This record gives sequence, structure tokens and C-alpha cells, in this order.
Amino acid sequence: MGGCGELTDLQITFLGTGGSIPTPKRGLSAIAIQRKAELLLFDCGEGTQRQMIQAGVGFHRKAKVFVTHMHGDHVLGLPGLLQTMSLLGRTKKLEIYGPHGIKDFVEAINQTVRFSLTFPVQVTEIESGMVCKEKEYEVEATQTNHMDPSLAYALTEKPRPGRFHTEKAKELGVHEGPLWSKLQAGSSVKLPSGRIVEPEMVLGASRPGRKIVYTGDTGPSENLVKLAENADLLIHEATFEDELKERAVEDGHSTPSMAAETAKAAGAKRLVLTHISARYKDANILLQQAKKIFVNTELAEDFLRLELPLQED
Ligand SMILES: [Zn+2]
Ligand SMILES: [Zn+2]
Repeated sequence: MGGCGELTDLQITFLGTGGSIPTPKRGLSAIAIQRKAELLLFDCGEGTQRQMIQAGVGFHRKAKVFVTHMHGDHVLGLPGLLQTMSLLGRTKKLEIYGPHGIKDFVEAINQTVRFSLTFPVQVTEIESGMVCKEKEYEVEATQTNHMDPSLAYALTEKPRPGRFHTEKAKELGVHEGPLWSKLQAGSSVKLPSGRIVEPEMVLGASRPGRKIVYTGDTGPSENLVKLAENADLLIHEATFEDELKERAVEDGHSTPSMAAETAKAAGAKRLVLTHISARYKDANILLQQAKKIFVNTELAEDFLRLELPLQED
């Protein structure tokens, strides 16, 4: 088993889990993924900054914001977030990704709301496909069935190198030190004897990274099933109960059964329902409906925090 550090290097915090309008218990859409030193924020509904304070998510980390679509309940938290970050003297660049319209929106905030940004903001308008590629993970997007354009995102970690077998290394005559690090990083090394040791000779099979998919607002869609294939965690909207299926379809939203069917078809391991309509004081009925189709379902609440342990070999 991995150490504690390995188990806590990725935390998902639901900052806002309400749909369209806030309630005393549910803020508007925002999910914070704290991955190592970085913050990845998915959607930024109104009040996100206050939820971040309450959840203890900092304002100074390396950060990216991924906006699913330009409905107010998913983006109106951006002005306040930018202002607070500036008041706190943030200096690191903030990257914002979103569909067409996000650039004009951020531009309008800059030109009309009087505060000075203390950090660079890089806004990138995206369509479906690869959004960003980092050393350890990538983010991909696909068009959802809600409005044009509206996006869902998949965060996928790259496979990690296999476990390093110290005994094997010693047997092969590689002594502890810089050569071990080289092998662990996947490079072959040459010993004083002239012998070449390849990483495969001392490393186990590579271990899969984690995959998290967030749908934003959407009705059922083949795109989503594809994007969520084998996801460790699918965060899916479930605005209305099954009995309001027609309403859900009309508005480009999902019922718990629709979310569960997508999780099942995609072979996801775990499903969390969010974007809960303000009409539900007790949303347990939504959870029960989804569980009939996909047992491993949870209902998001504001400040629900999940950890996704790494799979060990
Ligand atoms: Zn919404
Ligand atoms: Zn929407």
C-alpha cells in the first residue's frame, strides 16, 4: 500500500451543488480538485469564492478554471473570484478555459469592474477535444446535450512508472544513488563495468492514473458515454427526479436514471449526482432512483470532500 501522502494527493471538494438558483444549503455549481500543489476548478457559480474560503481552498495556488457553459449559474462567480485574488495579491497566472463567450465575459469584467488584476489571466476558448496537456495529466472536453456550446470535461492522469525493485537493482550491481533516480525516471544507465541496465529490468508494470469526468449541464448523450469510459469518478448532473423526465429532456438536463445509465454504459466505477434543483429540500429520492441502476452512487452536498486513492499494483 502507498503511504499517506499518496492517498491524499488528490481531493475533490464540491463547493456548489445546486441547479440554477441557490438554496440555503446548496450554492451554485463549482467543484475544486486539489491535485498536488495545483487547484483545478470546474465551473464557478456565484459565491464560489466564499465557498472556497469555507472549504479552505487557497487563492494563491497554481490554478486553472474550466467553465462548462455560459449560463449564469456556472460563471457568475468569476468576477468575485478575480477581484478577491487581486485583493489578496495573487501573482501566479490563472488559466481559464471555456466555450465561446468566455473571452468576452472576462474582458467585460476587466473593462467595467474597477479593480486591478495583480496577476496574468490567460483565457482560452475551446471546442471539444484536447484542452490542455500537462506532464502528469491532461484535460479533454466534449460537447454536451444542453446548449450550443456546452462542454463536459475529463481529467485523466498519465500512467505512473511501475514500482522500483531495489533488490533487483542491487543484484544487477546498481548501487543506491543517482543511478536509481535515473532508472526510476525511465532512462537506462551504464555501469562502470560497461553493462547497460534498462528501466524495465528493475521497474514493475506501469500503474494507471485516475480519471474524473464532470458533465456540467446535460441531457443524455453518446459523447458523454465515450468521454466517461472507465472513469474512476463520474460527476453527473441530476437536476430533476425521474417523474420529471419530460421537463428534463426539454431543458437539456438529466434525471438520476439518465445519469446512472450513462455511468453504467461508460463502465464508470463511481457516480456522484450534483446540480440538484432547488425544488428538493431532501434530495434522497434522486439518490434512490439512481441507485436502482447504478449502485455505487452518491449524492453531492456542498463541502462534500472525496479522495481518490491511487490504484496499487
Ligand atoms: Zn446549470
Ligand atoms: Zn445550464
